[in-house]
Amino acid sequence: MELSTFVERLRNGEAPKFPHDANSLAFAQGLDAQDKLSHLRDEFILPTKSSLKKKALDGSIPGMFPSAVCQTRLTESGEASHNGTNGTNGHSTNGTNGHTNGHKSESDEGLYFVGNSLGAQPKAIRTYLNAQLETWASIGVNGHFASYENSPLTQWQDLAEDCAIKSTDIVGASASEIVIMNTLTVNLHMLMASFYKPTEKRHKIILEWKPFPSDHYAIESQVVLHGLDPEKSMVKIQPNEDSLIPTEKILATIDEHAEETALILLPGIQYYTGQLFDIPRITAYAKSKGIVVGWDLAHAAGNVELKLHDWDVDFACWCTYKYINGGPGSIAGAFVHEKHGKVEFDSTTGKPIYRPRLMGWYGGDKSVRFNMDNNFLPTVGAGGFQVSNPSAIDLASLSGALSIFNKTSMHDLRSKALVLTAYAELLLDQIQADSKDETPLFQILTPRDPAQRGTQLSVLLKDGLLDKVGQALEDNGAQCDKRKPGVIRVAPVPLYTRFQDVWKFMQVLRGALEL
Ligand SMILES: *Cc1c(COP(=O)(O)O)cnc(C)c1O
Repeated sequence: MELSTFVERLRNGEAPKFPHDANSLAFAQGLDAQDKLSHLRDEFILPTKSSLKKKALDGSIPGMFPSAVCQTRLTESGEASHNGTNGTNGHSTNGTNGHTNGHKSESDEGLYFVGNSLGAQPKAIRTYLNAQLETWASIGVNGHFASYENSPLTQWQDLAEDCAIKSTDIVGASASEIVIMNTLTVNLHMLMASFYKPTEKRHKIILEWKPFPSDHYAIESQVVLHGLDPEKSMVKIQPNEDSLIPTEKILATIDEHAEETALILLPGIQYYTGQLFDIPRITAYAKSKGIVVGWDLAHAAGNVELKLHDWDVDFACWCTYKYINGGPGSIAGAFVHEKHGKVEFDSTTGKPIYRPRLMGWYGGDKSVRFNMDNNFLPTVGAGGFQVSNPSAIDLASLSGALSIFNKTSMHDLRSKALVLTAYAELLLDQIQADSKDETPLFQILTPRDPAQRGTQLSVLLKDGLLDKVGQALEDNGAQCDKRKPGVIRVAPVPLYTRFQDVWKFMQVLRGALEL
């Protein structure tokens, strides 16, 4: 069976029609053999069964020969020692120390299904961070305006812009519409400061019933800072009984509050259910009613195809530690549509005219940023919304992560993800079908329609099963997100997940449910 046929059917909104023997390791491996993106898995370091059990730092990196990655490591007394001298690499369970790069022990492989929470570590990040540390050590402050020819990094001054250039395909925008700065919630605040302009008549913000708490707090506090009452100014769209929110319901809420609404701010993908909203349709509809449109793309960026510029979105924010793999708490991204980033000049006074925003020296145009006068001339585009000198270490890390995306395209990643997730869904359905229990073992909360979801499937387990399932997953080196009272979120990320990993993960789950 051709992998491309499944992709085509899913892209056309049809059922994938997996064959009757799809629930087998051989079938999964057959798909892996056809996967043109399979080499990307080698770009990542994935936790192994033994590394997950490691109790102390020992200089070893899962799946890699220690000397290949760690030139020096700390001894117990805290002194640096060169490795290779004492042969304990402490992470090999099979006793052969056979973890040379590219020759991982298969039985030790973990199953990393939690890229929706924290993406796996790209090997490139170590290279990029080392380059950064060497540059800083070697030329100190000169690194702001100089870089080595053989370095993967630009001078520090240009690093944020370099990351923006590398993010264009991820969000579907030009580099000047993207800024890499701060962290997600901070960016929500900064962009609301500029884009939420309540008036006596139009003061409401439309959000969903159960946003990620940070988004709720950000919106609530913005409302309060304007002297408004959250009870009157926050409109929460309610879901149907299945926890999902149909587009029609969103449009109806817009209609109901159109005259009083200043801003609509929704997640591109809802973090709990995994529902992907119809961003272009909702954006166009809200804008036709004169409402400003912002999107939180925390779970969408690096996961699904986005075309923020063409969809005419006003602003958007995303974090880079989930599907983008920038590392825990990595520096975030924001989009400001071209039309809001313009800088024009008053014909009589010559003074710059631009959208009001929270200002800081790094939003200033590079040509005058270091003049140290008090005449703010913003960088044209999203870059003009920066405030502070960004961490070059953070940017180096993100730049390394983005370099992997630049080896492929969101189109190809999405194609693979559509099939991976449909395959996971198929195997879940078969577990359910094989169950002799009267009550269903679980319910898939995520939409069944592949066009309304990313890679994540949220599975609500029957009461009392979460601990047992959690234990079985842990025992088998399988990581996925678990939320009380009973939801697991399973994300087969196409950059580093194989079809055989999906099959193995579902075998573990099947075992836990004692089928
Ligand atoms: C992950 C996530 C956040 C986290 O915010 P930070 O500011 O990065 O800590 C916020 N909102 C949503 C929707 C998220 O998914």
